[in-house]
Amino acid sequence: AAAASLALTLTACGQSGEGGSKEDKESGKGGTIGIAMPTKSSERWIADGNNVVKNLQAKGYKTKLVFGEDDPDQQVSQIENLITQGVKALIVAAIDNKSLNNVLQQAKDADIPVIAYDRLILGTPNVDYYASFDNEKVGELQANYIVDKLGLKSGKGPFNIELFAGSNDDNNTKYFFNGAMTVLKPYIDSKKLVVRSGQTQLTQVTTLRWDGATAQRRMDDILTKSYKSEKVDAVLSPYDGISIGILSALKSDNYGSANKPLPVVTGQDAELASVKSIIAGDQTQTVYKDLRELAKVAANMVDAVLNDKKPEVNDTKTYDNGSKVVPAYLLEPVSVDKTNYEKVLVGGGFYTAGQLK
Ligand code: BGC
Repeated sequence: AAAASLALTLTACGQSGEGGSKEDKESGKGGTIGIAMPTKSSERWIADGNNVVKNLQAKGYKTKLVFGEDDPDQQVSQIENLITQGVKALIVAAIDNKSLNNVLQQAKDADIPVIAYDRLILGTPNVDYYASFDNEKVGELQANYIVDKLGLKSGKGPFNIELFAGSNDDNNTKYFFNGAMTVLKPYIDSKKLVVRSGQTQLTQVTTLRWDGATAQRRMDDILTKSYKSEKVDAVLSPYDGISIGILSALKSDNYGSANKPLPVVTGQDAELASVKSIIAGDQTQTVYKDLRELAKVAANMVDAVLNDKKPEVNDTKTYDNGSKVVPAYLLEPVSVDKTNYEKVLVGGGFYTAGQLK
């Protein structure tokens, strides 16, 4: 009975939303947009949620923002609730790219358009547009940074490198890794880069849910087993939270002391802790993605779709989700290190100088 009355209340909410006097039924203006973000455990997604809300509200929409705590089942039920509450459109950053097929069918049945946010949703025709960054380029930027920093192009080496990738249920993971490996593989093949752990396949190097502690354990293990007398010179890390975990493992093994310098460690997202780590000389690089622009793109897509206009896209061939090629708008990622963080991050208004102190 409790469940039935809850369902009734939710339905009633949805209906009162539709009948609301301010709402323009044609365009969905004044209607509510559902936004499902994956987790609050990384600051980027909190910023994403807030930025999307701001952009949609500026366009006259109401918003409902939910976070899935990195639990795919929870995300499914959150999206179900948003549908029941009568949202006009959904913006979804998936936790598990394959877990949303049923719930997106429910969205389709209720005529609710879906924008995949940052992470493509796989195996369903019920995703209308994709807003993201050039994900392969992210991996290329990380790998090229390593190549340049080690001086591999001028013939230096051999160097030891270890490879880390993101969560295996995130569609971006393989784009980041493949982008990086197109750059690194020739050096691995010519033995200028040596992966002493032997772990070079994507399936061997993923990090479930991008968890820093998981990466830290794997790095600990690799250092113990494969670096008894050798030193690691570079670590390909796909994300700042993972980089922080890797750096903890390295420091526990005395890296960062006088005769044992820290290796080159890449990252992604320009999260505050990592930018501070870069300034302190620990993490070496990160890939900055302007989340304010991504939120703008996603909000514009929703607005266009609800007004029967075609959203602006700049890629109609890369992102095949197994069911269709999803038209995408891809933004440009930027490599950031100690030499340009001020210009890019402070100059670009992403952080204030005070935040980085
Ligand atoms: C995003 C990255 C982020 C990672 C972990 C990926 O899907 O594209 O920006 O670092 O998820 O949250």
